[in-house]
Amino acid sequence: MLDLAIENVVFADPAGELSGVGAVGIAGGRIAALGRSVPAARRVIDGRGLTLAPGFIDLHMHEDPLSGEGASAVIGSEVAACQARMGVTTSVGGNCGLGTGHTGTYLTQLERQGSLVNYATFVGYTALRHELGIGDEYRPAAAGEVARLREAARAALAAGAVGISFGIEYTPGAPTDELLALARVATEFPARLLAAHFRSDADRALPSIEEMIYLGRATGLPFQISHLGSCAAFGMMPAALELIAAAAARGERVLADCYPYAAFCTFIGAAGFDGDCLARWGADYSAIQVAEGPYAGRRCDRALFAKLRREAPETLVVAFVLRADEVLLALKHPLVLVGSDTLLRGGQGHPRSAGTFPRVLGRFVRAGKMAFADALYKMTLGPARRLGLTDRGRLTEGAWADLVLFDPAVLADRATFAEPARAPEGIELVLVNGRAVVEKGRLTGARPGHILRAPQQ
Ligand SMILES: [Zn+2]
Repeated sequence: MLDLAIENVVFADPAGELSGVGAVGIAGGRIAALGRSVPAARRVIDGRGLTLAPGFIDLHMHEDPLSGEGASAVIGSEVAACQARMGVTTSVGGNCGLGTGHTGTYLTQLERQGSLVNYATFVGYTALRHELGIGDEYRPAAAGEVARLREAARAALAAGAVGISFGIEYTPGAPTDELLALARVATEFPARLLAAHFRSDADRALPSIEEMIYLGRATGLPFQISHLGSCAAFGMMPAALELIAAAAARGERVLADCYPYAAFCTFIGAAGFDGDCLARWGADYSAIQVAEGPYAGRRCDRALFAKLRREAPETLVVAFVLRADEVLLALKHPLVLVGSDTLLRGGQGHPRSAGTFPRVLGRFVRAGKMAFADALYKMTLGPARRLGLTDRGRLTEGAWADLVLFDPAVLADRATFAEPARAPEGIELVLVNGRAVVEKGRLTGARPGHILRAPQQ
């Protein structure tokens, strides 16, 4: 007897092997049967009119923070809830060099609390620098500090981090050699991945991409260029995609990810807002909207921008400076996957956190701007392959039953810059390891996610 059967669904198989209408049967957390019909089950759901796809795999998100240490450590679930409600079943945190320097503690605590979705993490380089007391991001690490940073990175990788992420823009003082010395630590472990938020954007996008490609080539590791839109969607996207394609043609394992919005979001104190950034973006202060705190919703002027940078540098802001046509160009490229860059605090942040995957399928695919099969691959099988996950991201017997059931006619993101955590519509059911975490758009309270630690040997 199966645990669950979902019948009369339209299969959305990123491998392209299954098509038409059929049923899926689930037992022991895995897909046990797939076909026109499946054996009897304890619970049967009629999926008539709905599409069944593997749950989305989000390579790039910023997880709920770990607060406290030891027995008092606790992790929120605001971000995880947004992820689950938009159909994400596996999430990768620790991106852009951020997150916790205590990877082992984070993973253990999340496992103890229970996770809504499957979770894997990078160890972030900026976090390690802060952890070791290198608070000045404008200076290089001294030789002795590099040795300690390498030791800390090694411990995080040994605890199961899938790789090292760099937020190069957030540590402008770290030269390429320092990054490379750290990146090389990941070669000591099997199947690790490097990822980076670029050094700079707009007119500096191309050399920034070349630096990341170099880090991949010099280590021989796969390299994930994070949120390519906010790096190059300033008129440089065609040239950026050519650089990446040329590296891939040479056999380098470089890919990028992108979120489907023409605005980025970060902390107003970030080094990316130094100097002449607005001139380089062809924008003025009003392009920057405060996302949280007493000025939430306000557009900046010179005085507010300066005040927040000085007095509240951790404030999240959104910058409406990207070219939407170039964001779409990136999303459509075969070497670019969909990644949300989810970033939320107290319900405030950027709507990509709750809208990314439904937005691509609902807005871009339904409007004929992207092919459904391409979009599906970039959200499921593509990121699964990137992470070396052979039993997720696909509709096949034996795979973990991470599944999303949605209504393709109504699927749409509803998160806005005013309400960035608003759940999408059209997501009917989300299963993680065979258990429902979302039904009819609502969280069930189940926490069946697995902690995905990268292998030691
Ligand atoms: Zn980033």
